Order: sequence, then structure tokens, then C-alpha cells
Amino acid sequence: MSRSIRLAVIPGDGIGQEVVAQGLKVLSAVLPQDVKLETQEYDLGAKRWHATGETLPDAEMASLKQHDAILLGAIGDPSVPSGVLERGLLLKLRFAFDHFVNLRPSKLFPNTSTPLAGRPDIDFIVVREGTEGPYTGNGGSLRTGTPHEVATEVSLNTAYGVERVVRDAYERAQVRPRKKLTLVHKNNVLVHAGHMWKNIFDKVGEEYPEVTTDYLHVDAATIFFVTQPERFDVIVTDNLFGDILTDLAAAVTGGIGLAASGNINPSGAFPSMFEPVHGSAPDIAGTGKADPTATILSVALLLRHLGYDAEAGRIEEAVAADLEARDGTARTTDEIGDALAGRVAG
Ligand code: ATP
Ligand code: MG
Repeated sequence: MSRSIRLAVIPGDGIGQEVVAQGLKVLSAVLPQDVKLETQEYDLGAKRWHATGETLPDAEMASLKQHDAILLGAIGDPSVPSGVLERGLLLKLRFAFDHFVNLRPSKLFPNTSTPLAGRPDIDFIVVREGTEGPYTGNGGSLRTGTPHEVATEVSLNTAYGVERVVRDAYERAQVRPRKKLTLVHKNNVLVHAGHMWKNIFDKVGEEYPEVTTDYLHVDAATIFFVTQPERFDVIVTDNLFGDILTDLAAAVTGGIGLAASGNINPSGAFPSMFEPVHGSAPDIAGTGKADPTATILSVALLLRHLGYDAEAGRIEEAVAADLEARDGTARTTDEIGDALAGRVAG
């Protein structure tokens, strides 16, 4: 295990700045003395775009690549036209660094407000494909803006891309206690891509005999997320279905303030990037109301990815204990960060 971490930090916009500060506070507190943490901050996001018109210049891309991992707060502001920062920065990073695994754990922590309060344990992870599906910009529009406009958005699926993410999901399922993997797709309607996904899922599964498998259409999966969330352990799905399912998962397991994610290149050829699921929340930026827990749990995912399992576990236990102790009194972003930093250090 490397005893130094070179971390690139992109605080970004709005509450991104505020929550990332807390994530770094907890990271410093949890790391053993002998691990050297080097951070480099990048000024990217809405402010930069307004000032210079740049989203993610090549020089910064090359510099980011030199790091072990990236911690991102949030990118986006209503003042920037939709798509500019998403395509120019977030998707650019995801494609350039080949983040083909988008990982989103969903766990029901104690004392969290959820429409499913009182349910048995909810503890599952969604492995969402990150580089294919309808997110490749493959399509076009004819007769744009006329009543006869025709627009296509082609979903791209390669055997290579599907196989590698399915394999990653089996690997993750194999080391969890329940060892269960569910494929979610819509292969009764999306027959071409759907059957390829199912065939590859079955074929790779032959190499993982201990893993129990299951298949659900995406519409059925949304029902079970709400009515029987405990049936899930690991879920693997395509880019678009994963996008929708993971927001639903966040909502049923305590809300957006707790949802963490990783954009991962499991080979380690490029730095993986960890970020809270929520956005820049301009409505509460600067008020101290942002909950930094999702970012702090993203730091735990980051540590686990780099092989610091014990430290990641300490953060997750601290979050569970902190939520258990919450009594409804409002705390500021900083106060929650301090409390968690205290718990992981103590
Ligand atoms: P994006 O397009 O970047 O995903 P969004 O429009 O989906 O952004 P968010 O920025 O995630 O929205 O905010 C959605 C709502 O959730 C807002 O009302 C915001 O205040 C709230 N919210 C988001 N993150 C947090 C947080 N960490 N703590 C408390 N409230 C939050
Ligand atoms: Mg959003």
C-alpha cells in the first residue's frame, strides 16, 4: 500500500466549496501519521467559465492525471447554460479517465428520515456503467426547430464495455456477505442491447458460481426499490437506468445529504473521482445549511479504493454514530464536519 496520497481537489460551485472543506478535514483526521497527504486544488466550474470561457483545459487535464484520486464537490450554476459544464467538464473527465464504473452505495443509516422508516436493513450498491449507453452524444437532429424536427439519441453498447462493468459488479458481489447480483435492464423492449447485456451477464456469471443472480426490468426495479429494498445487494445496470435508479435509491435511503458516489477506473490506469451525488445547491450556498455527510462518505469510498479499508470503515462508523446521536437540533456544515473529524480521530 502506498503511504502517500496525491489528491486532486475540485471544490467547484456553490456548496461544493463548503462540503469539500469538511471532507478534507475528516480525511486529515482519519489518516495515520505516516501517510503523507498532498492536495492540489483546481479552480474549475461556473466562476472559471464566466471569467475565462474555459471548462477544463488540456493542461489541467494532464495535471489531474498525475494524482492518485480526485475529490469533487459540485459543478454547476443556473447562470451557465445547461450542458456546458456537464459536457465540458464532468463528462469529459469521465470519458478521458475511463470511469466505467459509477459506484453508488445505498445504506439506511440510523435516525435518518426516509419514507421507508422501520424497514429492515437496506444496504445495497448500484454499479452503473459510466461511459456508454445514451451518454456518448451519439445522435443528431434534422430540421431542428421546425415542426418536422427529428432527433435521435443512440444508446451505444459494446461487448467490451458491458463485460468489464458486469465483471466489476460480480467482483463486488462476491466479497459481500449475501453475494447477490441483480441485472437491471429492459430487454423485453430494448431487445438488441438488452439481450447483449443479459447474455454477457450470464456468461461472466459462470466464473462466479457463489454469486446468486437475478434479472429485473427497470420498471419493476423501481417498484421493488420502494416496496422491497432489502431484496437488493449489488445491482448492475446501464448508464441511463443507473442514473435514474441511483437518485431513487438516494431518496429512499435518507436523502441527498447522505448519498456518496465514485466514478471509478478499477484498473488504476487513471485517477478515480469521488463526489457527493447532490449538486451545487445554489439555494442554500453560503448559509451553512449544507450537510457535508455525503462528501465525507465519498471520502470513505475514495480511501477504500486506494486500499485504506480500515480508515474507510472508521468514517462509515463515525457517520452511523453521528446520525444515531442527532436529536433534530440544526447544525451547521462546519459543526457536522467537526463532529465527524472528532469521532474518526478519537
Ligand atoms: P444538479 O443539477 O447539479 O444535480 P440539482 O438541481 O439536482 O443540481 P441540488 O443542487 O442537488 O440540485 O439540490 C437539490 C435540493 O437539495 C436543493 O433544494 C438543495 O438545497 C438540497 N441539497 C442538495 N445538497 C444538499 C446538502 N448537502 N445538504 C442539504 N441540502 C442539500
Ligand atoms: Mg441533480
